[in-house]
Amino acid sequence: TKEDVKSYLFRNAFVLLTVTAVIVGTILGFALRPYKMSYREVKYFSFPGELLMRMLQMLVLPLIISSLVTGMASLDSKASGKMGMRAVVYYMTTTIIAVVIGIIIVIIIHPGKGTKENMHREGKIVQVTAADAFLDLIRYVLSSPFPWVCFNHPIPLILESCFKKYKEGEKNHLLIPVVPFLFKFKTNYEKRSFQVPIQSNETLVGAVINNVSEAMETLSKITEEMVPVPGSVNGINALGLVVFSMCFGFVIGNMKEQGQALREFFDSLNEAIMRLVAVIMWYAPLGILFLIAGKIVEMEDMGVIGGQLAMYTVTVIVGLLIHAVIVLPLLYFLVTRKNPWVFIGGLLQALITALGTSSSSATLPITFKCLEENNGVDKRVTRFVLPVGATINMDGTALYEALAAIFIAQVNNFELNFGQIITISITATAASIGAAGIPQAGLVTMVIVLTSVGLPTDDITLIIAVDWFLDRLRTTTNVLGDSLGAGIIEHLSRHELKNRDVEMGNSVIEE
Ligand code: ASP
Repeated sequence: TKEDVKSYLFRNAFVLLTVTAVIVGTILGFALRPYKMSYREVKYFSFPGELLMRMLQMLVLPLIISSLVTGMASLDSKASGKMGMRAVVYYMTTTIIAVVIGIIIVIIIHPGKGTKENMHREGKIVQVTAADAFLDLIRYVLSSPFPWVCFNHPIPLILESCFKKYKEGEKNHLLIPVVPFLFKFKTNYEKRSFQVPIQSNETLVGAVINNVSEAMETLSKITEEMVPVPGSVNGINALGLVVFSMCFGFVIGNMKEQGQALREFFDSLNEAIMRLVAVIMWYAPLGILFLIAGKIVEMEDMGVIGGQLAMYTVTVIVGLLIHAVIVLPLLYFLVTRKNPWVFIGGLLQALITALGTSSSSATLPITFKCLEENNGVDKRVTRFVLPVGATINMDGTALYEALAAIFIAQVNNFELNFGQIITISITATAASIGAAGIPQAGLVTMVIVLTSVGLPTDDITLIIAVDWFLDRLRTTTNVLGDSLGAGIIEHLSRHELKNRDVEMGNSVIEE
């Protein structure tokens, strides 16, 4: 009908606009580089981009909460259990495939050559396996009267402040009772690295939040300004919020009449947020244009990026491309027998937003819109799997972390044995789960991977120069993985969804 044609044109004009934004943004960025804008000028110039970032950020929190709550509440426990299992299996499988691709590619291309400058560090590299570090941690926890001390703070920080205070003779300092244990621990810490289990533990413990509003506040710190500090755990806790919302949704889903008011409330909240998303989508192309142009204007001179780093960049791009263009679409096709490219076409807007914002969380509102409206994925599936996926399923990040760790090993002339490569694959998977969907979070959780095989964490600085760019690409891969996952999980769960429809007399489904 005429209406259909109109809406078709409308949608495509939209995609065209976004693609144009990327191209114009890139050209504008390069055209303005010769003017060498000051930091202040760049900030003013990027203002429209910053605005988009903040608008998306504003919607993410209520969106995660309302979608997960309504998603859980609209499924019966059997369906959500099955769907959850499928999601977990999909996330794990694709993440592991990504890691393997990263490892194979970096070994084949071998972008890092040991340089003289790095040689002197070799002596300092201590070999340590994840198992060793873990056993030591357990020993430490068992022997400490205050095991929580090590869970709540980044270890280097407590150690430093604690020893400083101790030396300064501040005997009544809170941590004094544990100093003997910390001494033992510090010696161990210097020999080997404890950050592996500590940081994984923090992620786990953080899954149970003790303060909802605090968790929300930290999650909302999605900003390009975030400087990743290797070794520190930054307080972003999306996982905690996801777990809380799921529990909450599960409970009100089982509450019969009493839960009706809450179900309707979150449903209507979700609907309202999605309408705001629709408005923001019109602004998105302009925002993306300035986000990209602003970044190109302020980036370091390409000349600074040496041969090894250039090779490294190419290696990462090849790895991500193999995963995003071959593996994921193939998987989608094998499971659903549908054309993956049609599906990906519907996602274009979300993919470009990911490229522009380098944050899967900030992209989430757009991902929802694309999947539900362009690809017609069942809302009960998107609401259930997308917020979780954006938080824990990061194929691009996993691939990147394994690849980067091996690159750093190559630069250091550090021969990795098979066991260490396995350790890297396990910790890269963990690090990708632990990374929040915010810009350059993967660079921070890389510490976990590096310390697990005793590589120097300082060497993260070697790759910082190109990370802003590679971050965008891995974020796009992350969003693609989440979205194709939603399509695959919907296909696999079609029977449960249909049964539920029959059971509810179709009345629960919106529209
Ligand atoms: N920026 C990525 C994301 O939001 C995470 C990362 O740094 O790898 O998905």
